[in-house]
Amino acid sequence: MASLQEYQCEICGIVSGKPVHWFVIQCSNSQLTVLKWEPEAANAPGARHYCGEAHAQIYISRWLEAACTPSPAGAHPGAVGRE
Ligand SMILES: [Zn+2]
Repeated sequence: MASLQEYQCEICGIVSGKPVHWFVIQCSNSQLTVLKWEPEAANAPGARHYCGEAHAQIYISRWLEAACTPSPAGAHPGAVGRE
């Protein structure tokens, strides 16, 4: 058995070994899925972890802005500048 696994919130950086009311977000360029915390979902490749609704919403807002803004100021359309 592995030792206790810890997860880190993508927004505030808090780390928890028992993320009871956390959320999991899985997303691609065209789709974003919010999942209730399940170890299976949390450990899936590409899953992101958030310590609560507020921080999950921050990420969703950023994602929506990115998805709905084809050409951010100063960038050419089609140039994907996400890290
Ligand atoms: Zn957080």
